[in-house]
Amino acid sequence: MRTRIRAIETFRVSQRFMVCKVSTDDGLVGWGEPILESRAETVEAAVRELSQLLIGADPAPIERHRQVLVKAGFYRGGPVFGSAVAGLDQALWDLKGKALGVPVHELLGGPVRDRVRIYGPAHGDETEVMLDQARSLVEAGYTAVKVAPPRTLGFVDTQATVHGLIDRWTALRDEIGPGIDFAIDFHARVSAPMARVLLRHLEPLMPMFVEEPLPPEHQARIGELAAATTVPIATGERLYDRWDCDPVLRSGIAVLQPDVSHAGGISEVFRIAALAETHHVHLAPHCATGPVALAAGLQLDLAVPNVLIQESHLRLHRPGEHPMMRFVTEPDTLVFEDGYRRRPVGPGLGIELDEEALRAAAAAPDSTRSPVWSYPDGSYAEW
Ligand SMILES: [Mg+2]
Repeated sequence: MRTRIRAIETFRVSQRFMVCKVSTDDGLVGWGEPILESRAETVEAAVRELSQLLIGADPAPIERHRQVLVKAGFYRGGPVFGSAVAGLDQALWDLKGKALGVPVHELLGGPVRDRVRIYGPAHGDETEVMLDQARSLVEAGYTAVKVAPPRTLGFVDTQATVHGLIDRWTALRDEIGPGIDFAIDFHARVSAPMARVLLRHLEPLMPMFVEEPLPPEHQARIGELAAATTVPIATGERLYDRWDCDPVLRSGIAVLQPDVSHAGGISEVFRIAALAETHHVHLAPHCATGPVALAAGLQLDLAVPNVLIQESHLRLHRPGEHPMMRFVTEPDTLVFEDGYRRRPVGPGLGIELDEEALRAAAAAPDSTRSPVWSYPDGSYAEW
């Protein structure tokens, strides 16, 4: 008789880090990271509700489970269900890899590359702080960094604001030189008319890509921006399945950024990647959350041919410094060398967690959420 799923438990550590643990009758444990930043409790409730569809079932037929999880409630789609299903899907893949004794990327067809290029964020409101961050990442081996506008922009902002941003990013190019890539996350802080102006001024700096030049509700206009610039346009962290991605892939973007913890997990992002390949679009998977999400993303990156680069905020070059990495029992499973993450050989997702540390942290979760910004007149501004 095949094994059955005995229990599913969540550990909500913060608004950016929550894991689910799927246990089976034969003692195996699969980990997943169902998380939506600043909406962690909502996703936790969704995981609890969806778990009722899995308890007592054979964990092996992942796609059959995915069909039920995504469709059986009649209503479907969106970030909350996309994230809840993502964590459960990751845990089922982790279980399958462990049951068969192979890494997940072997189950997806085997590695198409030996290692995965990683980029990290260079934050800082002040230009000097941002430059320091970028310099330290490059010194640690990164070959690409990402920055963002330090504050929101008006719908049509001043010449001084535009020139201030371009000066800031020119200083970055001067700091890192032409042999290192940088990307800019507009974070949807920029309106379509301002994006058009900024992209024109950015062309001589040749950024690797500009991300989310528009918020997701205005994706229908992203093709206009892509057609008006030579800067590669990226988007996708707020798209949750193939059907969300399809019209965007047809718009002329260069880079798609699905998040394996928001867009239905390994099963759906693997299919999104294949759809992107038909449009000559490469993936730069989004990952601003924890180590299980990154481990799942890296398994995909190893099996998907059209991957440009992988995002990570976990300071893999100094993993002891990042609070989320203290839950990883063997940090060397996320080894970072010369700007790349080495191919893991362990079974499943290739990561193990300290359950007792998770349990203790989840008993007093950090409730800090993303900030809420406003314009000088008090009205809402995009963060
Ligand atoms: Mg982003």
